[in-house]
Amino acid sequence: MYVDVILPRPIAQYFTYIVPSELESLLRVGSRVLVQFGRKRSYSAVVRRMYEEKPERAEGYEIKSIQEVLDSEAIVTEEQLNVWEWMAEYYCCAVGEVYRAALPAGLKIESETKLIYNAEYEADSLLSERDEMILRYVREKQKCSTQDVEKYCDDFNPLPRIQKLVEQNALLVSEEMRDTYKSKTDVFYRLSANYKTDYDLSAVLDTLEKKAPKQFDALLYFIQASGGLGNAANGWALRRADAQRAKAGVAMYLNSLVEKGVLTATKENISRIAEEQGNVVPPVKLSAEQTSCKEEIECHFANNKPVLLQGVTGSGKTEIYIHLIKECIESGRQVLYLLPEIALTAQIMSRLRKHFGGDLGVYHSKFSDAERVEVWRRMLSRNPYKVLLGVRSSVMLPYHNLGLIIVDEEHESSYKQFDPAPRYNARDMAVVLAGMQKANIVLGSATPSYESYQNAVSGKYAHVRLNKRHSGMQLPLITPVDLRASYLHKEMDGIFSFQLKEAISQALKNQEQVILFQNRRGFSPYIECRLCAWVAKCQNCNVSLTYHKNTNMLTCHYCGYSVAVPGVCPSCQSPALSTHGFGTEKIEEETQRLFPDARIVRVDQDSASSRKSFERIISDFEQYKYDILVGTQMISKGLDFERVNTVGILNADNMLNRADFRAYERCFQVISQVAGRAGRHSRRGQVYLQTRQTENPVISYIVNSNFDALAEQQLRERELYAYPPFTRLIHLTLKHRDETYLRHAAPVVAGNLRAIFGNRVLGPEEPYINRIATYYLQRIMIKVEKWASPAKVKTLLQESLSVFTSDPSNKGLLFQIDVDPA
Ligand code: ADP
Ligand code: ZN
Ligand code: ZN
Repeated sequence: MYVDVILPRPIAQYFTYIVPSELESLLRVGSRVLVQFGRKRSYSAVVRRMYEEKPERAEGYEIKSIQEVLDSEAIVTEEQLNVWEWMAEYYCCAVGEVYRAALPAGLKIESETKLIYNAEYEADSLLSERDEMILRYVREKQKCSTQDVEKYCDDFNPLPRIQKLVEQNALLVSEEMRDTYKSKTDVFYRLSANYKTDYDLSAVLDTLEKKAPKQFDALLYFIQASGGLGNAANGWALRRADAQRAKAGVAMYLNSLVEKGVLTATKENISRIAEEQGNVVPPVKLSAEQTSCKEEIECHFANNKPVLLQGVTGSGKTEIYIHLIKECIESGRQVLYLLPEIALTAQIMSRLRKHFGGDLGVYHSKFSDAERVEVWRRMLSRNPYKVLLGVRSSVMLPYHNLGLIIVDEEHESSYKQFDPAPRYNARDMAVVLAGMQKANIVLGSATPSYESYQNAVSGKYAHVRLNKRHSGMQLPLITPVDLRASYLHKEMDGIFSFQLKEAISQALKNQEQVILFQNRRGFSPYIECRLCAWVAKCQNCNVSLTYHKNTNMLTCHYCGYSVAVPGVCPSCQSPALSTHGFGTEKIEEETQRLFPDARIVRVDQDSASSRKSFERIISDFEQYKYDILVGTQMISKGLDFERVNTVGILNADNMLNRADFRAYERCFQVISQVAGRAGRHSRRGQVYLQTRQTENPVISYIVNSNFDALAEQQLRERELYAYPPFTRLIHLTLKHRDETYLRHAAPVVAGNLRAIFGNRVLGPEEPYINRIATYYLQRIMIKVEKWASPAKVKTLLQESLSVFTSDPSNKGLLFQIDVDPA
């Protein structure tokens, strides 16, 4: 028998292996097999097809045999494989790349070479940049796997170089084959068969009471915990960790009872994911408006239409979702609840947990790999989660019987994966998945993406609206503050206008809380020399380094390069270095200066890098341990704080000025999301929007909360200039270390593409940030018709590119294809 397998590598095709006859019966489509690929490399590959006849294309060379079958049951379902193939085709990548992104690392065992940097090594000849890059990486990590290096070197295969570096003794290895996933176990105590009657048990209790009172207590505890002898006799098990938690030290006596033969003890796998069963409560009663909205949605479901639910913040979208979920799981089907890749999972999770208890599973990128393996296995089991709350990658999980998908905050750009491939949009994949599995789907947002809005307007999706907040509370009052006038009239105090400062003081006086928002982009603080104007720049990218006050480090947000702040200017040796810019740290500092008694906390990528720290800050703020929350986009979504009635947006200009056809769409979204945090409970919220562009029409649309008017105006423009959603946009980024070469090559590549795609090809142009991680960049844009076949586009594009790169003079040129860029 032969199999075609998917390797976890960025290679376009499937690979054929022969199956030794003794393994044939073990094999399933979707199970993993260990195969050799290349020299001495082993991979766990996924079986795509099994067949009897020798494939024609394999004539003439030797087909290797698979080494091992790793699963007795398929670990990837046929449906998932179909989704993977769809993704690979539409997003122009290899199915192996989808495989890599889909499976948690613990399910991708490979010949895991552990690499160790050899500190004694001295190079006797100059190393290439790539070799240096690998060495530097391993040195920084001390010890890492080839897989880590592969992840780091996204755009070339580092394995041959690693091999050479190992031969030169620059790297040391310890080769071990292992399953990175180790399941967690605990001891479970059960009543042994000889003591399952009242009679036997009371006899042993009598003896114990006199001779071993501690063991007596332990056995009594065991029976109590079991809920009665009936349960205990039926094989009920007490988990050691639970017992120890309830009664410290009890495990020792339980063990003695095992030695006596009263109890048995076995080691068993346990799920790492805490399932607080608890009491589940029924969903709230929907208002009349919400009820008719829900009925409307169900009516469209009956016609198999995806639904766009456009509802203002606080209108009760989530409550409606909860009703829909409940009905779906009661009908025996599963639900996927998608959230953008942001840390608001905690709030939604506890809301859903309240209603669905242990039926709810959570899949999040900040979870440990072991936890993700756990979820994957559970989804494959006969008792899968009924509701799965997850981010982006959960569209690639195995589902048995999906009945409903909810895409919350569907407009969020973090649904789009940027790096590495597959560069997919999980919202769009959710629509595809729903179609494949005949599931219903709701896309929900207060400010829908123009893509979905257009689909709703054109009738491809159903359009359902909720225009009022449930509380009856009005949407917040947004007041634009003209920064030009404020500066002119000397009404600014640092970064605060007089109006905003007043509002904050008043809020603090009323014992209310305040949120201050700063858009993430473009306002990172940097270091500059006051004498010679030297600016600290990244050595690998054409960007200035971001200054982090608490660590006193300069960091590149593009490649992660990081150095300590120099004592003197490296250019003129003067000590006159000063910080510029407007990061959240700086805002925190300024705010503290103005409001010395206020308790201030900051949320951004640095202060809340882990899930735990984000959740802690948010819950501390909820519990009124702070007065003012300073943050970036991270705080803009979904959060609901009772005491927040005042929000300050410190500067809207960099959102308005972005050179991006989505600038206004995004600006409206972000500002109304942040504004939506204010005044949800006690009184109407007030939002101060500081800007130099008070006359920009977007500002008046925002002030009037007129989403539709801006959307329609922008969509007319996009149609006129053939931008998405009216065309499919593809970004082709060319990367090379040699700037001159790239400047010459890019127009040639564009020319070749023009010969095929005609005037659908635009560019090349140099992106604003034209060097990232030592690579120079050029960008070519292709606009293809919506109805063009993705398969054909992929083939034409890749053919043209591979003809070009097959010429040896173009070696080292790398491509990155991004379909539907965010
Ligand atoms: P959205 O998801 O549209 O922002 P939510 O579902 O979070 O809105 O609702 C906003 C607030 O109003 C929440 O605290 C929610 O519990 C409450 N709420 C919404 N609808 C109802 C209802 N029918 N009964 C009671 N509370 C409701
Ligand atoms: Zn960099
Ligand atoms: Zn200087």
